[in-house]
Amino acid sequence: MEKVTQLDTFRVMSERVGRFNVQGKRFLIPEMNRFSSHLLAGVFHSFGVNSEVMETYEGLDLGKRFTSGKECFPCVVTLGDILLFMKKERERLGDRFDPENYMYFMPEANGPCRFGMYNKYHRIILDSMPGLDKVKIAALNSDDAYSLDGLIPREKMWDFRKAGYLSIVVGDILDRLLWRIRPYEKAEGMADTCINDATERLTESFAQHSSENDLSPILGDLIEIVKEAREIIDPRIPKRPLIGVVGEIYVRTHVKSNQDTIRTLERYGAEAINASIGEWINYTTYEQVRLAKSALRLNLKRFQFKGIKESLFRYLKYSITLFYQYMQQRKVYQRVRKYIDIEEDHKIGHLEKVLKGNNTFSFEVGTEACLSISSAIELAHRGYNGIVNIFPFTCMPSNLTASIAKPLMAKLNIPYIDISCDGSLQPGREAALRTFMYQAYQHFKTHGRP
Ligand code: SF4
Repeated sequence: MEKVTQLDTFRVMSERVGRFNVQGKRFLIPEMNRFSSHLLAGVFHSFGVNSEVMETYEGLDLGKRFTSGKECFPCVVTLGDILLFMKKERERLGDRFDPENYMYFMPEANGPCRFGMYNKYHRIILDSMPGLDKVKIAALNSDDAYSLDGLIPREKMWDFRKAGYLSIVVGDILDRLLWRIRPYEKAEGMADTCINDATERLTESFAQHSSENDLSPILGDLIEIVKEAREIIDPRIPKRPLIGVVGEIYVRTHVKSNQDTIRTLERYGAEAINASIGEWINYTTYEQVRLAKSALRLNLKRFQFKGIKESLFRYLKYSITLFYQYMQQRKVYQRVRKYIDIEEDHKIGHLEKVLKGNNTFSFEVGTEACLSISSAIELAHRGYNGIVNIFPFTCMPSNLTASIAKPLMAKLNIPYIDISCDGSLQPGREAALRTFMYQAYQHFKTHGRP
C-alpha cells in the first residue's frame, strides 16, 4: 500500500479545496439561511452554473458518525448534508454515479476561529470514502472579502458579484418581512406560505435576470411580494415586545439547527429580528478596508514605497466595494420601507464606534463577537425589549459574546438569554425562553418599544 505523507495531505488540500471553475459541474450549496441560499443558487443558474441547494439537517446522524463531538456544530451539520446527498445520488444513479460531476461549495474565514477548517475536515472525510475524493470543494475566503476570482470567468465576475450581493440583501429582506408579519398574521400559516412562495418566485427571477445588466425586474418582483405580504397583517393585533437576535451566523440563521428559536419566541409573544447575512458580508469587506488602512499607515511610517502602493490599492479597492455594498443595500431597503416598516441594517463602522465607546471588546480581535457584542449594545440603547444570543455549543466567539454581553445587558436592565445548540433537545429550553419573554414583556410595559 502506498504510504501517504504529510506533504501529500497538504497537496490534496490545495489541489482539491480551492477556487475551481464551476462550469459544467453540479454545484452543491449547503443551506444556511433558507432564503439566501436558494436565491444564490438562482444567481449561479443565471450564469450558466447548474447549482442546487442540498437538503439540510436530514443527514445529521451521518455528520455525527464522522465527527468526534469536538467540532463546531455547523461543521457537523454541513458534513451530514454533503454525505447524505452523495449517498442518495449513488443510490439513485447506481453505475452512472460519477463523483467528478459535482462540486461542493464550502466557503471559509481566517482568523482565530475554526470556520477555515470545515472544508479541510470535510475533504479528509470525503477522501476516506470510495470515489468521493473526486468531488472537489470550492472555497472562497473572507481574506479577500469572498472574491469570486477563479470560480467565475473574470469578465463575468463583477456582474456576478453584483447579483450575488443583491441575493443576500433580498434574502435578508424576506427574513425580515417574515418576522414582521408572522406575529400579526390574520390566520395561522399565512405568513409562512407567503414567504415560501416568494422565495420560489424570486429564485426564478434571479435565475432569469442576474446575468443581465439591469436587475430592476428582480426588485420589481420583490416590491410586489412586499405589497402582498403587508396585507397579511391584522391591524387589530397590538404591538409586541421587540427582541433582537445576535450570535454565530450559521446557527442563528439555520432554522433547524436552532430549533426555530424565533418561532418559539413568537409563540410566547415576541416580535423578533435576527442579525442579517449582509452584516457579515459587509463586515468582511470592512475588515479588509481596516487592515489595508493599518498597513498603509505602517508603510508610510517606514517609507516603504512598494508597500505604500500595494496597501493604497487594497484600501481603495475595498473602500469602493464597501461603498457599493452599502449603497445597494440601502437602496433596496429604502424601496421596501416605502411599503412596510422593516428594520434597516446598521453600518459596520457604526458598530465599531459603539464598541470603542463601550471599551469592552475590540475589532482588533475580530470574529463575530465584535458584531454580536456591539449589536447587543446598540439594540439595547435603541430600546429593544430583550436580546437573545444563539450559537453552537463550544463556539469560541459566541462564548466570548456571552461572557461580555450578559453582564452588560444586566447593567442596562435588558433581559438577555444565551441559547447554545448542539442538535440535542434541551428539556429546560422552552421554560427558559418563556421566562425570558415574561421579563421582556415587563420591560415592554415599562419602557415601550422602538
Ligand atoms: S464561529 Fe464558532 S462555530 Fe463558527 S467556526 Fe468559529 S468557533 Fe466554530
